[in-house]
Amino acid sequence: MPNSYEIAVFAGDGIGPEITDPTVKILNDLSAKSSGYSLNFTAAPAGAAHYAETGESLPAASMETARNADAILLSAMGLPDVRYADGTEISPQIDLRKALTLFAGVRPVTVRPGQATPLKIPAGKEIDFVLVRESTEGLFYSQGTGEVSADEARETLRITRDISEKLFRFTFDLARQRRRQGRGPGRVTCVDKANVFRAFAFFRELFDAEAAKHPTLTADHAYVDATALWMVQKPWDFDVMVTENMFGDILSDLGAGLMGGLGLAPSADIGLEHAVFQPCHGSAPDIAGQGVANPFAMLLSAAMMLDWLGVKHDNEDLRRDGSRLREAVEAVVAKGTVLTQDLGGHASTNEAAEAVSAVLVLEAA
Ligand code: ATP
Repeated sequence: MPNSYEIAVFAGDGIGPEITDPTVKILNDLSAKSSGYSLNFTAAPAGAAHYAETGESLPAASMETARNADAILLSAMGLPDVRYADGTEISPQIDLRKALTLFAGVRPVTVRPGQATPLKIPAGKEIDFVLVRESTEGLFYSQGTGEVSADEARETLRITRDISEKLFRFTFDLARQRRRQGRGPGRVTCVDKANVFRAFAFFRELFDAEAAKHPTLTADHAYVDATALWMVQKPWDFDVMVTENMFGDILSDLGAGLMGGLGLAPSADIGLEHAVFQPCHGSAPDIAGQGVANPFAMLLSAAMMLDWLGVKHDNEDLRRDGSRLREAVEAVVAKGTVLTQDLGGHASTNEAAEAVSAVLVLEAA
């Protein structure tokens, strides 16, 4: 059927299945009510619990489901007491990122009315920016293979023309889409350390070459240390930022801190063909099985998925439902009466998700 999209669902570990179920239910409801698209979901078993049971963390069949899907929805994977024989953590989401060349880690940072934030936001200002973290190379290039001797340790930072060009093209396109949606002035900031490292001067040179192809967008640069300061002092000034893997890893946690924690922080890992959408938080084993996990970051990630599919396939209904789902979560947060414990409330996972469904139903009525 045209406009029918396959979604691979990695329910994962810990609270993963608890937040996946209501998310898939809401997506199914949206899809059932739309005449412009339909979604089909296929479960993809993987993760630490699966490894403990079967000896496989990412079975070939699940990888195949991911490869064949139009988009991948993933909750959280990994458990502290289940590890590979060499002691490393089980994180199939990182394997997926590498196998599917998902070079752009997209981390939106938004603070909406009613949302707790450690910052004092001046009247008339709003935090709504996106951090794009390169996710396949940079200082993570030699992850697990760094050289360590008795007197010295070395890791390699790698920046390639191929990945950087794809990354910057993606980032400028994202800034243009956001401007179209009224979510930013169309400005891209390259975050680097070009004053100290030749690799970052190269990164910046490639950024400038891409910027020259987008005369209607604004491009500028910032050093990563100054960016950390400005993210606290004036985060409302940013629109889209793009940076290297390790810098992005650190700055995205700073971004989650501005949002009042991980409970409202969605993310996407995007490549040319594939994309994984998952909340920034982990599997939260300390609260698993209690039905109290916050489903909002997962729902916001699902909203990003609808938006991405809508842009990729030029499907207005998917884009509209992506915005509706995001705005429904924001409306529940702004109202503040149905919140899970991490946001200071007493609601269960299902009650919080039902509050979002109720906003979507009311809106459609
Ligand atoms: P990882 O290394 O896998 O990213 P982590 O060790 O950083 O994970 P999380 O699993 O994200 O940690 O949990 C950190 C804390 O945040 C825990 O106390 C957990 O209960 C809480 N937490 C994380 N996600 C949620 C959620 N969706 N709802 C409520 N609390 C959460």
